[in-house]
Amino acid sequence: MTDPFAPPPDEIGTEFDVIIIGAGPAGLCAAMYCGRGMLRAVVLERGIPGGELLNTEKIEDYPGFISILGPDLADKMAEHARQFGADIRMEEVTSVIRRDDAIFEVATATGATFTAPAVILTAGGTPNKLGIPGESEHAGRGVSYCAVCDGAFFKGETIAVIGGGDAAVEEADYLTRYAKKVYIVHRRDEFRAARVLQERAFFNPTIEVLWNQKVLEMLGDGKGLRELELEHSVSGLRSRLAVTGAFVFIGFTPNSGLVKQHMDHDAAGYIITNDRMETSIRGLFAAGDLRVQLTRQVTTAVGDATTAAIAVEKFLTARKALLAG
Ligand SMILES: Cc1cc2nc3c(=O)[nH]c(=O)nc-3n(C[C@H](O)[C@H](O)[C@H](O)COP(=O)(O)OP(=O)(O)OC[C@H]3O[C@@H](n4cnc5c(N)ncnc54)[C@H](O)[C@@H]3O)c2cc1C
Repeated sequence: MTDPFAPPPDEIGTEFDVIIIGAGPAGLCAAMYCGRGMLRAVVLERGIPGGELLNTEKIEDYPGFISILGPDLADKMAEHARQFGADIRMEEVTSVIRRDDAIFEVATATGATFTAPAVILTAGGTPNKLGIPGESEHAGRGVSYCAVCDGAFFKGETIAVIGGGDAAVEEADYLTRYAKKVYIVHRRDEFRAARVLQERAFFNPTIEVLWNQKVLEMLGDGKGLRELELEHSVSGLRSRLAVTGAFVFIGFTPNSGLVKQHMDHDAAGYIITNDRMETSIRGLFAAGDLRVQLTRQVTTAVGDATTAAIAVEKFLTARKALLAG
Protein backbone atom coordinates (compact mmCIF):
# COMPACT_ATOMS: atom_id res chain seq x y z
CA MET A 1 0.00 0.00 0.00
CA THR A 2 1.28 3.47 -0.81
CA ASP A 3 2.04 5.72 2.11
CA PRO A 4 -0.45 8.62 1.73
CA PHE A 5 2.10 10.94 3.34
CA ALA A 6 5.07 9.90 1.22
CA PRO A 7 6.56 12.74 -0.80
CA PRO A 8 5.57 12.87 -4.48
CA PRO A 9 8.40 11.88 -6.84
CA ASP A 10 9.28 15.54 -7.54
CA GLU A 11 10.02 15.98 -3.85
CA ILE A 12 12.29 13.01 -3.32
CA GLY A 13 14.98 14.05 -0.89
CA THR A 14 12.53 16.32 0.92
CA GLU A 15 11.91 14.67 4.25
CA PHE A 16 9.38 17.09 5.65
CA ASP A 17 6.73 19.56 4.55
CA VAL A 18 7.96 22.07 7.08
CA ILE A 19 10.82 22.47 9.53
CA ILE A 20 10.14 24.50 12.66
CA ILE A 21 13.26 25.92 14.29
CA GLY A 22 12.91 26.45 18.06
CA ALA A 23 10.43 24.98 20.54
CA GLY A 24 9.46 28.07 22.51
CA PRO A 25 5.80 29.16 22.64
CA ALA A 26 5.87 30.11 18.93
CA GLY A 27 7.49 26.85 17.77
CA LEU A 28 5.23 24.65 19.91
CA CYS A 29 2.11 26.46 18.75
CA ALA A 30 3.22 26.22 15.09
CA ALA A 31 3.85 22.48 15.62
CA MET A 32 0.36 22.02 17.06
CA TYR A 33 -1.27 23.73 14.07
CA CYS A 34 0.93 21.90 11.55
CA GLY A 35 -0.01 18.61 13.23
CA ARG A 36 -3.70 19.45 13.03
CA GLY A 37 -3.18 20.39 9.38
CA MET A 38 -1.65 16.90 8.76
CA LEU A 39 1.66 18.37 7.61
CA ARG A 40 4.86 16.39 8.01
CA ALA A 41 6.58 18.74 10.43
CA VAL A 42 9.70 18.46 12.55
CA VAL A 43 10.65 20.80 15.40
CA LEU A 44 14.37 21.28 16.00
CA GLU A 45 15.18 22.57 19.50
CA ARG A 46 18.66 22.97 20.97
CA GLY A 47 17.49 22.50 24.56
CA ILE A 48 14.34 21.57 26.44
CA PRO A 49 11.05 22.72 24.86
CA GLY A 50 9.64 25.90 26.39
CA GLY A 51 11.99 28.71 25.34
CA GLU A 52 11.89 31.79 27.56
CA LEU A 53 9.02 30.28 29.56
CA LEU A 54 11.67 28.18 31.27
CA ASN A 55 13.34 31.38 32.56
CA THR A 56 10.09 32.93 33.76
CA GLU A 57 8.81 32.34 37.23
CA LYS A 58 5.14 33.24 36.91
CA ILE A 59 2.99 34.10 33.92
CA GLU A 60 -0.09 36.15 34.80
CA ASP A 61 -1.07 37.45 31.38
CA TYR A 62 -1.77 34.33 29.32
CA PRO A 63 -5.54 33.98 28.85
CA GLY A 64 -7.06 31.02 30.62
CA PHE A 65 -4.40 30.93 33.34
CA ILE A 66 -4.75 33.57 36.05
CA SER A 67 -1.32 32.55 37.29
CA ILE A 68 0.89 29.72 36.08
CA LEU A 69 4.57 28.91 36.50
CA GLY A 70 6.52 29.41 33.27
CA PRO A 71 7.88 25.83 33.18
CA ASP A 72 4.37 24.45 33.79
CA LEU A 73 2.98 26.39 30.83
CA ALA A 74 5.94 25.14 28.76
CA ASP A 75 5.10 21.51 29.68
CA LYS A 76 1.44 22.02 28.78
CA MET A 77 2.33 23.56 25.41
CA ALA A 78 4.79 20.76 24.58
CA GLU A 79 2.26 18.09 25.61
CA HIS A 80 -0.45 19.78 23.54
CA ALA A 81 1.83 19.89 20.46
CA ARG A 82 2.80 16.20 20.95
CA GLN A 83 -0.90 15.24 21.21
CA PHE A 84 -1.20 16.41 17.61
CA GLY A 85 1.86 14.46 16.55
CA ALA A 86 4.66 17.00 16.94
CA ASP A 87 8.05 15.43 16.26
CA ILE A 88 10.34 17.44 18.56
CA ARG A 89 14.04 16.62 18.23
CA MET A 90 16.94 17.90 20.27
CA GLU A 91 19.11 19.46 17.58
CA GLU A 92 20.91 22.79 17.51
CA VAL A 93 20.45 24.41 14.12
CA THR A 94 23.63 25.92 12.69
CA SER A 95 22.45 27.11 9.27
CA VAL A 96 19.43 27.52 7.02
CA ILE A 97 19.98 27.73 3.27
CA ARG A 98 17.45 27.86 0.44
CA ARG A 99 18.77 25.84 -2.48
CA ASP A 100 18.27 26.76 -6.15
CA ASP A 101 15.49 24.13 -6.37
CA ALA A 102 13.56 26.10 -3.67
CA ILE A 103 14.13 23.44 -0.99
CA PHE A 104 15.55 24.49 2.38
CA GLU A 105 18.51 22.69 3.87
CA VAL A 106 18.68 23.01 7.64
CA ALA A 107 21.98 21.85 9.10
CA THR A 108 22.47 21.01 12.77
CA ALA A 109 25.41 20.70 15.16
CA THR A 110 25.19 16.87 15.08
CA GLY A 111 25.97 16.95 11.35
CA ALA A 112 22.40 16.12 10.32
CA THR A 113 20.64 17.89 7.44
CA PHE A 114 16.86 18.30 7.29
CA THR A 115 15.10 19.33 4.09
CA ALA A 116 11.67 20.80 3.37
CA PRO A 117 10.08 23.33 1.02
CA ALA A 118 9.03 25.51 4.00
CA VAL A 119 10.66 26.63 7.24
CA ILE A 120 9.16 28.46 10.20
CA LEU A 121 11.85 30.24 12.15
CA THR A 122 10.84 30.61 15.81
CA ALA A 123 14.29 30.77 17.41
CA GLY A 124 13.47 33.80 19.60
CA GLY A 125 16.24 35.89 20.98
CA THR A 126 18.00 36.74 24.18
CA PRO A 127 17.83 39.88 26.33
CA ASN A 128 21.40 41.14 26.71
CA LYS A 129 22.78 40.59 30.19
CA LEU A 130 25.08 42.83 32.21
CA GLY A 131 27.19 39.79 33.09
CA ILE A 132 27.92 41.01 36.64
CA PRO A 133 28.00 39.07 39.92
CA GLY A 134 24.56 38.49 41.41
CA GLU A 135 22.66 39.01 38.14
CA SER A 136 21.91 35.39 37.24
CA GLU A 137 21.39 34.42 40.93
CA HIS A 138 18.61 37.02 41.21
CA ALA A 139 17.02 36.53 37.79
CA GLY A 140 13.31 35.99 38.49
CA ARG A 141 13.92 37.00 42.14
CA GLY A 142 14.20 40.75 41.65
CA VAL A 143 16.10 40.92 38.38
CA SER A 144 13.94 41.08 35.25
CA TYR A 145 14.29 41.79 31.54
CA CYS A 146 10.61 42.43 30.83
CA ALA A 147 8.55 45.28 32.37
CA VAL A 148 5.17 44.21 30.96
CA CYS A 149 5.76 40.69 32.28
CA ASP A 150 7.06 41.45 35.76
CA GLY A 151 6.15 45.07 36.60
CA ALA A 152 3.05 44.12 38.59
CA PHE A 153 5.17 42.07 41.03
CA PHE A 154 6.80 45.33 42.27
CA LYS A 155 3.75 47.27 43.50
CA GLY A 156 4.80 49.97 46.02
CA GLU A 157 8.50 49.01 45.86
CA THR A 158 11.66 50.93 44.98
CA ILE A 159 13.29 49.60 41.84
CA ALA A 160 16.01 50.42 39.31
CA VAL A 161 15.98 50.37 35.53
CA ILE A 162 19.40 49.87 33.98
CA GLY A 163 20.10 51.31 30.53
CA GLY A 164 19.72 54.52 28.54
CA GLY A 165 18.08 53.60 25.23
CA ASP A 166 14.42 53.73 24.17
CA ALA A 167 13.46 50.51 25.98
CA ALA A 168 15.01 51.57 29.31
CA VAL A 169 13.50 55.05 29.36
CA GLU A 170 10.07 53.98 28.09
CA GLU A 171 9.83 51.00 30.43
CA ALA A 172 10.95 53.12 33.42
CA ASP A 173 7.96 55.37 32.76
CA TYR A 174 5.69 52.31 32.43
CA LEU A 175 6.98 50.86 35.72
CA THR A 176 5.96 53.97 37.68
CA ARG A 177 2.37 52.72 37.54
CA TYR A 178 3.48 50.02 40.01
CA ALA A 179 6.65 51.08 41.81
CA LYS A 180 6.72 53.94 44.31
CA LYS A 181 10.17 54.99 43.08
CA VAL A 182 12.08 54.16 39.89
CA TYR A 183 15.78 54.99 39.51
CA ILE A 184 17.19 54.93 35.99
CA VAL A 185 20.82 53.93 36.37
CA HIS A 186 22.81 54.94 33.30
CA ARG A 187 26.55 54.66 32.74
CA ARG A 188 26.73 57.82 30.60
CA ASP A 189 25.70 61.46 31.13
CA GLU A 190 22.97 61.43 28.47
CA PHE A 191 20.36 59.05 27.12
CA ARG A 192 20.26 57.54 23.62
CA ALA A 193 16.46 57.33 23.89
CA ALA A 194 14.15 59.40 21.68
CA ARG A 195 13.64 62.99 22.91
CA VAL A 196 9.92 62.51 23.52
CA LEU A 197 10.58 59.48 25.76
CA GLN A 198 13.28 61.35 27.68
CA GLU A 199 10.96 64.29 28.35
CA ARG A 200 8.23 62.02 29.62
CA ALA A 201 10.72 60.45 32.03
CA PHE A 202 12.18 63.80 33.17
CA PHE A 203 8.68 65.12 33.98
CA ASN A 204 7.67 61.99 35.86
CA PRO A 205 8.10 62.75 39.59
CA THR A 206 8.49 59.05 40.45
CA ILE A 207 11.63 58.73 38.29
CA GLU A 208 15.13 59.81 39.35
CA VAL A 209 18.05 59.45 36.96
CA LEU A 210 21.44 58.43 38.32
CA TRP A 211 23.92 59.55 35.64
CA ASN A 212 27.40 58.12 35.10
CA GLN A 213 26.73 55.11 37.27
CA LYS A 214 27.92 51.65 36.39
CA VAL A 215 26.34 48.66 38.14
CA LEU A 216 29.11 46.42 39.47
CA GLU A 217 27.14 43.88 41.46
CA MET A 218 23.63 42.85 42.52
CA LEU A 219 23.35 41.93 46.19
CA GLY A 220 20.61 40.04 48.00
CA ASP A 221 19.79 38.44 51.32
CA GLY A 222 18.77 34.98 50.17
CA LYS A 223 15.12 36.04 49.78
CA GLY A 224 15.62 38.43 46.90
CA LEU A 225 17.49 41.45 45.56
CA ARG A 226 18.29 44.15 48.13
CA GLU A 227 21.04 46.46 46.77
CA LEU A 228 23.03 47.45 43.71
CA GLU A 229 26.73 48.20 44.05
CA LEU A 230 27.44 51.24 41.85
CA GLU A 231 30.59 52.94 40.64
CA HIS A 232 30.66 56.54 39.35
CA SER A 233 32.19 56.33 35.88
CA VAL A 234 34.02 59.67 36.27
CA SER A 235 35.06 59.86 39.93
CA GLY A 236 35.30 56.11 40.53
CA LEU A 237 33.38 56.59 43.82
CA ARG A 238 31.43 53.57 44.94
CA SER A 239 27.97 53.59 46.54
CA ARG A 240 25.05 51.26 47.23
CA LEU A 241 21.47 51.72 46.04
CA ALA A 242 18.71 49.99 48.02
CA VAL A 243 16.22 48.42 45.56
CA THR A 244 14.14 45.25 45.49
CA GLY A 245 13.89 45.12 41.72
CA ALA A 246 16.26 45.75 38.82
CA PHE A 247 15.04 45.80 35.22
CA VAL A 248 17.87 45.44 32.74
CA PHE A 249 17.28 46.97 29.28
CA ILE A 250 20.56 46.97 27.44
CA GLY A 251 19.39 45.39 24.20
CA PHE A 252 18.00 42.11 22.86
CA THR A 253 19.71 39.88 20.32
CA PRO A 254 17.33 38.08 17.93
CA ASN A 255 18.54 34.65 16.74
CA SER A 256 18.12 35.58 13.09
CA GLY A 257 21.74 34.92 12.04
CA LEU A 258 20.99 31.24 11.35
CA VAL A 259 19.76 32.16 7.87
CA LYS A 260 22.79 32.38 5.63
CA GLN A 261 21.16 34.27 2.75
CA HIS A 262 19.97 37.85 2.69
CA MET A 263 16.65 38.30 4.45
CA ASP A 264 15.06 41.70 5.15
CA HIS A 265 15.61 42.79 8.74
CA ASP A 266 15.78 45.99 10.76
CA ALA A 267 18.93 47.62 12.15
CA ALA A 268 18.84 45.45 15.29
CA GLY A 269 18.51 42.18 13.31
CA TYR A 270 14.76 41.60 13.85
CA ILE A 271 13.17 39.87 10.85
CA ILE A 272 10.69 41.81 8.74
CA THR A 273 7.61 39.81 7.69
CA ASN A 274 4.30 40.54 6.03
CA ASP A 275 0.98 39.79 7.73
CA ARG A 276 1.28 36.08 6.73
CA MET A 277 4.62 35.90 8.60
CA GLU A 278 6.43 35.48 5.27
CA THR A 279 10.00 36.78 5.20
CA SER A 280 11.65 38.17 2.08
CA ILE A 281 12.87 34.60 1.30
CA ARG A 282 10.06 32.61 -0.36
CA GLY A 283 9.04 29.64 1.78
CA LEU A 284 10.71 31.01 4.91
CA PHE A 285 8.31 32.18 7.62
CA ALA A 286 9.17 33.80 10.97
CA ALA A 287 7.13 33.99 14.17
CA GLY A 288 7.58 35.23 17.73
CA ASP A 289 10.27 37.25 19.44
CA LEU A 290 12.69 37.40 16.51
CA ARG A 291 10.22 39.30 14.33
CA VAL A 292 9.87 43.08 14.03
CA GLN A 293 6.82 44.01 16.09
CA LEU A 294 5.53 46.34 18.78
CA THR A 295 5.70 43.95 21.71
CA ARG A 296 7.08 40.51 22.54
CA GLN A 297 4.87 38.33 24.70
CA VAL A 298 3.73 34.72 24.86
CA THR A 299 0.38 35.75 23.40
CA THR A 300 1.97 37.51 20.43
CA ALA A 301 4.36 34.59 19.84
CA VAL A 302 1.52 32.06 19.62
CA GLY A 303 -0.57 34.46 17.52
CA ASP A 304 2.27 34.81 15.01
CA ALA A 305 2.79 31.05 15.01
CA THR A 306 -0.88 30.37 14.27
CA THR A 307 -0.73 32.68 11.27
CA ALA A 308 2.59 31.22 10.11
CA ALA A 309 1.38 27.60 10.28
CA ILE A 310 -1.81 28.35 8.38
CA ALA A 311 0.12 30.41 5.82
CA VAL A 312 2.55 27.47 5.37
CA GLU A 313 -0.38 25.14 4.67
CA LYS A 314 -1.64 27.49 1.96
CA PHE A 315 1.87 27.94 0.59
CA LEU A 316 2.35 24.15 0.30
CA THR A 317 -1.04 23.64 -1.34
CA ALA A 318 -0.25 26.33 -3.93
CA ARG A 319 3.20 24.81 -4.49
CA LYS A 320 1.78 21.33 -5.04
CA ALA A 321 -0.76 22.69 -7.53
CA LEU A 322 2.04 24.46 -9.36
CA LEU A 323 4.22 21.34 -9.46
CA ALA A 324 1.28 19.25 -10.69
CA GLY A 325 1.16 21.66 -13.61
C1 LIG B 1 12.51 36.91 32.12
C2 LIG B 1 11.37 36.95 31.15
C3 LIG B 1 10.08 36.98 31.63
C4 LIG B 1 9.01 36.99 30.75
N1 LIG B 1 7.74 37.02 31.25
C5 LIG B 1 6.68 37.01 30.41
C6 LIG B 1 5.34 37.06 30.92
O1 LIG B 1 5.11 37.10 32.12
N2 LIG B 1 4.33 37.07 30.00
C7 LIG B 1 4.56 37.04 28.64
O2 LIG B 1 3.60 37.02 27.88
N3 LIG B 1 5.80 37.02 28.16
C8 LIG B 1 6.86 37.02 28.99
N4 LIG B 1 8.15 37.04 28.50
C9 LIG B 1 8.32 37.06 27.04
C10 LIG B 1 8.07 35.66 26.46
O3 LIG B 1 8.77 34.70 27.21
C11 LIG B 1 8.50 35.64 25.00
O4 LIG B 1 7.85 36.67 24.30
C12 LIG B 1 8.18 34.29 24.35
O5 LIG B 1 8.82 33.24 25.04
C13 LIG B 1 8.62 34.30 22.90
O6 LIG B 1 8.44 33.03 22.36
P1 LIG B 1 9.30 32.54 21.11
O7 LIG B 1 8.86 31.15 20.86
O8 LIG B 1 9.24 33.53 20.03
O9 LIG B 1 10.83 32.58 21.59
P2 LIG B 1 11.58 31.83 22.78
O10 LIG B 1 10.70 31.63 23.94
O11 LIG B 1 12.83 32.60 22.96
O12 LIG B 1 11.93 30.40 22.17
C14 LIG B 1 12.90 30.23 21.19
C15 LIG B 1 13.39 28.79 21.21
O13 LIG B 1 14.27 28.61 20.13
C16 LIG B 1 15.36 27.81 20.56
N5 LIG B 1 16.52 28.07 19.71
C17 LIG B 1 17.21 29.22 19.56
N6 LIG B 1 18.24 29.06 18.71
C18 LIG B 1 18.17 27.77 18.29
C19 LIG B 1 18.97 26.99 17.41
N7 LIG B 1 20.04 27.51 16.79
N8 LIG B 1 18.64 25.69 17.20
C20 LIG B 1 17.56 25.16 17.83
N9 LIG B 1 16.79 25.84 18.69
C21 LIG B 1 17.08 27.13 18.91
C22 LIG B 1 15.60 28.27 21.99
O14 LIG B 1 16.32 27.28 22.72
C23 LIG B 1 14.17 28.44 22.48
O15 LIG B 1 13.66 27.25 23.03
C24 LIG B 1 9.24 36.99 29.35
C25 LIG B 1 10.54 36.97 28.86
C26 LIG B 1 11.60 36.94 29.74
C27 LIG B 1 13.01 36.90 29.20
